[in-house]
Parts: sequence; structure tokens; C-alpha cells
Amino acid sequence: MSLLILSGAALLLVLWLLGQPRLAEWRRERLRRKPFPRPWRQILLRRVPVYRHLPADLQLRLKRQIQVFLAEKPFVGCAGLTVTDEMRVTVAALACLLILHRGGEAFPNLRQILLYPGAFFVDRPHLGAAGVQQENRRLLSGESWARGQVILSWQDTLAGAADPGDGHNVVLHEFAHQLDQETGPANGAPWLPRSARPRWAQVLGAEFDALRQRVELGLPSLLADYGASDPAEFFAVATEVFFEQPQPLALEHPALYAELSAFYQVDPLSW
Ligand SMILES: [Zn+2]
Repeated sequence: MSLLILSGAALLLVLWLLGQPRLAEWRRERLRRKPFPRPWRQILLRRVPVYRHLPADLQLRLKRQIQVFLAEKPFVGCAGLTVTDEMRVTVAALACLLILHRGGEAFPNLRQILLYPGAFFVDRPHLGAAGVQQENRRLLSGESWARGQVILSWQDTLAGAADPGDGHNVVLHEFAHQLDQETGPANGAPWLPRSARPRWAQVLGAEFDALRQRVELGLPSLLADYGASDPAEFFAVATEVFFEQPQPLALEHPALYAELSAFYQVDPLSW
């Protein structure tokens, strides 16, 4: 008898586990169909100028992704910051620009977004020359952790959103890292279909090397020098320029533009 009960319980557990993803997707589909709150649309118009430039179908996609994102990803105010809808919608809109054509959960590894009023200090422990643990204090506008957190400065988020054509946007940058971190530590190689990986590695590798050389020679570049730090930063910096300065990127780096356009499944040149 107890064996029967155990088998029944095991079967129920398996059915429940199998049903979870479908239930979650059903919930998301309901969220996507909900009317987009009017005050949120006002925030998009006021704080996220790129929204106005999107074609109507992408505006709709963006709003649907924002609804799912905000229902599933909690925000935490840090250093005394009270998180408002204005902050949540602005961050969500910029993050969801990167996943306009993705189904399922928005940024599945992401558990929460920490928001600071302005730039924030982080202490990086590292081993000093004599083997002594030292703190390396740095002032940051954003950070993305593989453990499921994105940390942002609201002041820098606002500044990045306000000028959608300067090639600098901390939210695009940090959420590109989140995409990259879905496949392990950030290395500039986010998940791609197997067939697309060799060309991605070849194009981004060559562009990264070219940027490093220009930085070493002190030559100006469309891509910020910071992108020459490592392949992960290169991908994040290239993402900022892809969405904010598509014309010069397509003109000066057509192969890089094509790879990013295929990855994000959008063509910002046409916006
Ligand atoms: Zn970075």
C-alpha cells in the first residue's frame, strides 16, 4: 500500500515538474496580452527616446517583453533609493531592447536588479604582492554578475537613455553581459546556434584585435577604448554602439554589424 502511495506521489511530482515550464509560459502569455498601463507608456515616451523610433511592431514587442520582465524580475533600491515605476520601466525597456525576439523567460539567469541613486563603489578583494588580501575600490555605473544580479546607477541609466545616439548606455552594456553570462563566465560568446559560432568567433575576434591595435597606437575609434579590455567588454561595448550608432557601425564595421544584427534579430539601421 505504502509503495502505491509513494509511486503515486512520485508520478505527481514528475507531472508537476513537467508542467512547470508550460504553466510559466502560459502565465507569460497572459502578461503579454494585458493592456500596457498608460502611465508606463508615458514613461517610455518621456525617458526612453529610442522607443519613439521603433517600428510599430517592435514597439508592441517591447511593451510585451517589459510586462513579463517587470512581473518576474524584482528591483532592489540601494543606498536609500526608493525604486519607482519610472525607474523600473526605464531599465526594463532598455534591457528588453536586447531580447525583442526572444520567447520564454526574459534573462533566465537574472534574479534581481540592484539600483543605486548614482555611481557606486565596489571593493574587489585581490591578493597583493606579499600575499595580503587587499581591497581594490572602484567607482562604477553598472555591473553584471553571473550569479544573477545586475547593478545599476540610476543617474547613469537616465543619462544613457536620454541620449540614444552617443553610443554609451550602461543598461544595454550590463544586460549584454547578462546574455553573455548565460553560457558561463562572460567571454564575448553568448549562446548562438552551432552553425553561427565559427563566423561569430572569427568576426568578433578580428574586430577585437583591430580595436586593441588602435588603442595601443592611440588612434580614435567608433568603439570605446574600454572594449579593448577583453572579449566580454568588446561584446558589451559593440552592443551599445550597435543600438545607438548603427549607421557608422554598419559603414565602418559591416561584418560586425551583420553579426550583431543576426544575434539580436533586429536592424536598428531601419529605425
Ligand atoms: Zn562591462
